[in-house]
Amino acid sequence: MRDANFLAENNARHIWHPMAHPAEMQASPPRVIMKGEGVHVTDVDGRTVLDAVGGLWNVNLGYSCDPIKQAIARQLDALPYYSGFRGTSTGPSIELAWELAQWFEPEGMTRAFFTSGGSDSVETALRLARQYWKIRGQGDRVKFLALKKGYHGTHFGGASVNGNANFRRNYEPLMPGVFHIPAPYAYRNPFDETDPERLARLCARALEDEIAFQGADTVAAFIMEPVLGAGGVVVPHPSFMTLVREICDRHDILLIADEVVTGFGRAGEWAGSRIAKVKPDMMTIAKAITSGYFPLGATLIGGRVAEVFEADRTSFGAIGHGYTYSGHPVGCAAGLAALAETRRLDLARNAAARGEELASVLEALKVKHALVGDVRYKGLMAALELVSDRTTRKAAGKAVMTAVADAAYEAGVMLRVSGSNIILSPPLVLTPKDVRTIGEALDAGL
Ligand code: PLP
Repeated sequence: MRDANFLAENNARHIWHPMAHPAEMQASPPRVIMKGEGVHVTDVDGRTVLDAVGGLWNVNLGYSCDPIKQAIARQLDALPYYSGFRGTSTGPSIELAWELAQWFEPEGMTRAFFTSGGSDSVETALRLARQYWKIRGQGDRVKFLALKKGYHGTHFGGASVNGNANFRRNYEPLMPGVFHIPAPYAYRNPFDETDPERLARLCARALEDEIAFQGADTVAAFIMEPVLGAGGVVVPHPSFMTLVREICDRHDILLIADEVVTGFGRAGEWAGSRIAKVKPDMMTIAKAITSGYFPLGATLIGGRVAEVFEADRTSFGAIGHGYTYSGHPVGCAAGLAALAETRRLDLARNAAARGEELASVLEALKVKHALVGDVRYKGLMAALELVSDRTTRKAAGKAVMTAVADAAYEAGVMLRVSGSNIILSPPLVLTPKDVRTIGEALDAGL
């Protein structure tokens, strides 16, 4: 590894950082993280902070999970790579697919299609949804419906169902036939409705109206995050997903749950869909499947979809889709170890318990600081929405957001800024003391 001076000089010179303006990164280079231990990371200047971002919603087990590191090392030694394309398979991928079917049995998931991450998983789900309808002889069902404020990664399909202009605008025209409905976001919504349950009904009605407007027989699927993450931790009332399931059933539309963030405990349940006890038709997962130790994701397929593919005798059933790294043996070995640790430590339960403590901290900060317009949380995913004026709810500017995050960093905690939201997604191995540390740093920052 080159020295700190080399890294500082070249930080943003030859690398374009995702979700950043290259010139801005050159003018104000990002922090270089050198080391991780427990729930802490250390930067190139030797400063150690608590990582309240959890990498990027994914390092649920923290940075010192030896069983994952050892599983990766063992698998690298035995077989660093082999393809899962037709004709060959590998042990860890078979075992992990079995494990995922057990893990998400309550959601009715029976099959796994492995990918390299969340965007791949979403892309796979959208493609399989279209293919499903072709196999069933309803080739007109090609449209997708999604939530405004939803985030579904950055491939062309995922960006098309994305509900945020920042991820769409520069890449348009995107996929045609995608339509968005309002998210059940109580702080800001077109209905001026603040009661979450009533809002859930209004948004569900908007979905049904849109289906009627488009014609149900042209709609392939509705995709949603059970708790919206990157859009600012929008937590729908649990009745929302139940209503969505009923509507999708009524119109024979597939429901895709994007669980890239909510899968494996982050929202205080093993799956976000489990909060509302909903069985989606497909689920997308990634991130915590390896706790970030190896890039891996999967699209999980429920019984209804699987049966149609597997019973197919037309020319439409073969899956003309896959990635070189689908079922990567090292990734799957990492996944098996990560899931074993996740279950052993009962991380969903810890996320729920620490999440409650974090919620009280955030509510107190809202009372204390006029800058905080709204706080939202579920398990260990949370957002503070900052405003420059509580009455008009005018969003706080970029300079304010950066100043808060920088001050919190000085106080020992890494936060993530997304628009006017401070996003918290710490490792799920968090302790009560860590929650207090996050609260103190937020307080200092605000
Ligand atoms: N879906 C959701 C809900 C996400 O939050 C993300 C990433 O944050 C993605 C999809 C895309 O995942 P990736 O960045 O691994 O491609």
